Amino acid sequence: MQPNWIKQRAYLTPNRVALSFHDEQWTFNELYLQSVSLAYKLNTLRLTNGKRVAILAPSTPHLIELLYACMQAQCEMVLLNGRLAKHELAYQVEDAEVDAILVADEELVKLPDDDRIIPFSKLYKTMESEYDIAAQWNEDFALTIMYTSGTTGFPKGVCQTVSNHSSSAISSALNLGISEKDTWLCTVPIFHISGFSIVVRSLLYGMKIRLYEKFDAEKCAQEIMEGTVTKMSVVSVILENILSEMEQAGKKAHPNFTVALAGGGPVPIDYLKRSEELDLRVAQTYGMTETSSQTATLANEDAMTHIGSAGKPLFFNEIKIDAKDGESIGEILIRGPHVTPKYIGRFKDKPTTINGWLHTGDVGYLDEQGYLFVVDRRSDLIISGGENIYPAEIENLLLGHPNVKEAGVCGMEHDRWGQVPVAFIVAKEQMTDQEIIGFCKQHLANYKVPKHVHFVSHLPRSGSNKLLRRKLMQLLEE
Ligand code: ATP
Ligand code: MG
Repeated sequence: MQPNWIKQRAYLTPNRVALSFHDEQWTFNELYLQSVSLAYKLNTLRLTNGKRVAILAPSTPHLIELLYACMQAQCEMVLLNGRLAKHELAYQVEDAEVDAILVADEELVKLPDDDRIIPFSKLYKTMESEYDIAAQWNEDFALTIMYTSGTTGFPKGVCQTVSNHSSSAISSALNLGISEKDTWLCTVPIFHISGFSIVVRSLLYGMKIRLYEKFDAEKCAQEIMEGTVTKMSVVSVILENILSEMEQAGKKAHPNFTVALAGGGPVPIDYLKRSEELDLRVAQTYGMTETSSQTATLANEDAMTHIGSAGKPLFFNEIKIDAKDGESIGEILIRGPHVTPKYIGRFKDKPTTINGWLHTGDVGYLDEQGYLFVVDRRSDLIISGGENIYPAEIENLLLGHPNVKEAGVCGMEHDRWGQVPVAFIVAKEQMTDQEIIGFCKQHLANYKVPKHVHFVSHLPRSGSNKLLRRKLMQLLEE
């Protein structure tokens, strides 16, 4: 059992600031009291003790309060991604068989009609009925259900338990350290594990969250340069925007700022070098929905000596590579207390582990010192004339070209070689395919050089902004 995190935090450090948004702030005790009142309303609606509720809301203090309330009411929360299309949201709500859908009024238009919808305005007007809020939580309780990004196929509903989340937060603290002055800048979506894990860390560490409803590169860069925040989570696109702002402002990161945790996908090496110039410490991290956030993270002191690595596993976690005899590259397998025990819905019969190990579908290797290098997704491997080509290597190179804004690489059928790599590029300024091919020839083995280069206005991305390589070829049909 674990103590009710919200009650425990309000008891331990009631007057510490938990949340700051625009010019307002809330202490842990204030949020606790507000969430108790909301939990009593949920009780009137019979949404307590294991009921499954979907939540669709932007990242505002109302959402944080509701997350606290649902946790106190012991509901399983299905966190919905507001960037998804109507039919994608409808799919997740059906797949998760939710009892209710709590929706911020301004987001109602995003969902098809459904009797289970309860707008926030209705929830707030509901009478309170007092009941005994659990003082302790079962470790196996599914606090959240999150859908994977759907990069490789159908999004999978992943159950994340109390102990998955707490072990993830503890491991992260053991690696990054905690200070009383910490303020975590949260601009990543809370419906993803990258954002929700900040809420968990805040409760477990007693740490302030500086919340933004939408990412604002200029304001975030300012917070980093002025030292009003100490940590933040980024994906590579966000990092790039911040770097550009800081470069324009000609100012470095404030010494208060300790780390930008960069995950969700590979971070181009060029971005890491630019960060170094700006004294902006970046810790590359590797994780997924199934591991409730980070599995491995590159410690600050190793950032420049192991550039491109996702570091070593966090303290409680293990990583091994399932490689063929004589090879060092293979599928990344993960074991640890942060690994989900089960999928729900359509994938409910798919085991999450085999003999205790999660098979990630990602390919990588460990170097002699045990640093993890994530190479790519196994499903995106291009085999050309018997040689393995990983699109990420080529994309990484292309993103280092000063005129390339976005890059995506996939395989195309080829009579002689089986498959050949093809590049799709969003350019900053007009350029020719020969420039790109010439650039690649300087840095890559010949068989890895894209055989065709297509300039496009955008790349296909998922609701969480991930590149969908499986849809690149469709751009040619548009
Ligand atoms: P789906 O499982 O539905 O195909 P997804 O795997 O993209 O979608 P997430 O759980 O959001 O869903 O993303 C986790 C994946 O992101 C990892 O399995 C890995 O492929 C990629 N990833 C995360 N961190 C890194 C990293 N540091 N380097 C390379 N890839 C990463
Ligand atoms: Mg996945």
